[in-house]
Amino acid sequence: MSTQAATEETAVVIGLEVHVQLETDTKVFCGCSTEPDDEEEPNTRTCPTCLGLPGALPVLNEAAVEAAVKIGKALDSEIPETTTFHRKNYYYPDLPKNFQLTQYDAPICAGGELAVAVDGDRRTIGITRAHLEEDPGSIQHAGGSIESATHTLINYNRAGTPLMEVVTEPDFRSPAETRAFLAKLEEVLEYLGVFDATRDGSLRVDANVSLVPASEMAEDGSVPEDVLADADRAEVKNISSHRGAEKALAYEISRQRNVLRRGREIEQETRHWDEGRGVTVSMRSKEAEKDYRYFREADLPALEVSDWKEEISIPELPDARRERFGEEYGLDDEAASKLTSTKAVADFFEDVASEFDPELAATWVADNLLGELNYRELAITDVDGRLDEFKRLIELVAAEELTVKNAEEVVLRGMLDEGDDPEAIIDREGLGKAEGDEVADAVAAVVDENPEAVADYRDGDEGAINFLVGQVMQATGGSADPGQVNGLLREELDD
Ligand code: ADP
Ligand code: MG
Ligand code: ZN
Repeated sequence: MSTQAATEETAVVIGLEVHVQLETDTKVFCGCSTEPDDEEEPNTRTCPTCLGLPGALPVLNEAAVEAAVKIGKALDSEIPETTTFHRKNYYYPDLPKNFQLTQYDAPICAGGELAVAVDGDRRTIGITRAHLEEDPGSIQHAGGSIESATHTLINYNRAGTPLMEVVTEPDFRSPAETRAFLAKLEEVLEYLGVFDATRDGSLRVDANVSLVPASEMAEDGSVPEDVLADADRAEVKNISSHRGAEKALAYEISRQRNVLRRGREIEQETRHWDEGRGVTVSMRSKEAEKDYRYFREADLPALEVSDWKEEISIPELPDARRERFGEEYGLDDEAASKLTSTKAVADFFEDVASEFDPELAATWVADNLLGELNYRELAITDVDGRLDEFKRLIELVAAEELTVKNAEEVVLRGMLDEGDDPEAIIDREGLGKAEGDEVADAVAAVVDENPEAVADYRDGDEGAINFLVGQVMQATGGSADPGQVNGLLREELDD
């Protein structure tokens, strides 16, 4: 791009390449487990195939293909009749074969889109393609950073973990949009049950960013092909979270603006996001596609997905479910969003709403349960063995056997902090609503003990009844229902 951009207003153009680890039991081309063990030794979760030993052959994992097809369906991609695998050749220590098994001109997902909401605006981000490939091993620079390390350790336990690389069109116009997109993508992947966001390094992003003279943008806000191709862009690697993407891009945009302001040109290069320092640093000049000498993997035949893809179904996705929750249960947008934030939350809400009043279910799940869980930095999946206990608590509230205040402040909090079941807490704290007889006895006793208030009430002093209700509530330790006490008192006194 010419330096004219220095004096002109520029538009931000960003495209993402997102690598997500697929949740399968075994690796994508061998039978090794994908599940890291807390205590595992380096290079133990390996076999001749994922170590790249001569003569070892790849066997494609069916579950990884199914996950990839689900992702394609969720992103509205075209899934071709057949898909093929290629070798992407490069020499790097984490890649024992000196090539990565990936896809090239016939990826499993072509095209597509994902809608995101950014500051109340709905934006549709185009998906260029999504393909299946293997994760390389991991590298540890001994003694600190890549610059100061005395030697480097390589661990192939991760090598061969299935990855889906989702490539977007350069449709983002701000870092905030990439953050919203990544959050949405994770939400969809989680709904599909193909992704575990809590696993370290399960999402890795390369962000391509360029500045384009605003005058060269098309009227509809898109970037003309020739302008895109001409723009000098940097590719920022090593981003591992939504927030990381937003920060890295904000930094990179300022950096590029400063370079242009000084009358210099943007280098076409790969940069590394240094999370700790909050800066991007130059890594190398960007490799071109031809550098990789892609060629067909002869050990894997073309894969026919034409019939198979029809059998693979996906669940209702978050946007659709949010809308349905609004219509079916009469929830406002905020509640519907909260209740569809993860599939586990949405499933639990629907389970409760099928048995009790949906409004009560929404309040209890969205406000009380999620609120208390968030406060403790827990997700519903952290307590999924106890959902029946939460349901029993909601049932007690629905049956008015427990006051709302006690249910939330004493029982729910106790359940989360002490791990007890609701009945144990109710017993221990004596919270059960007083039995009918106990209330009736208390009403009779209070009437006997307070002749003046009784006389005042009979003389037409309405305030006196409140005093009497208060006395009964005190006598029953707050466990009676005030409305019911009021009724019983009037019955007794109006005789
Ligand atoms: P490569 O394979 O060299 O990384 P691609 O052309 O396949 O390049 O594009 C990769 C990513 O770069 C895509 O997400 C695409 O949207 C994005 N991209 C392409 N042109 C630009 C640009 N001018 N500015 C920002 N991102 C871009
Ligand atoms: Mg790239
Ligand atoms: Zn293996």
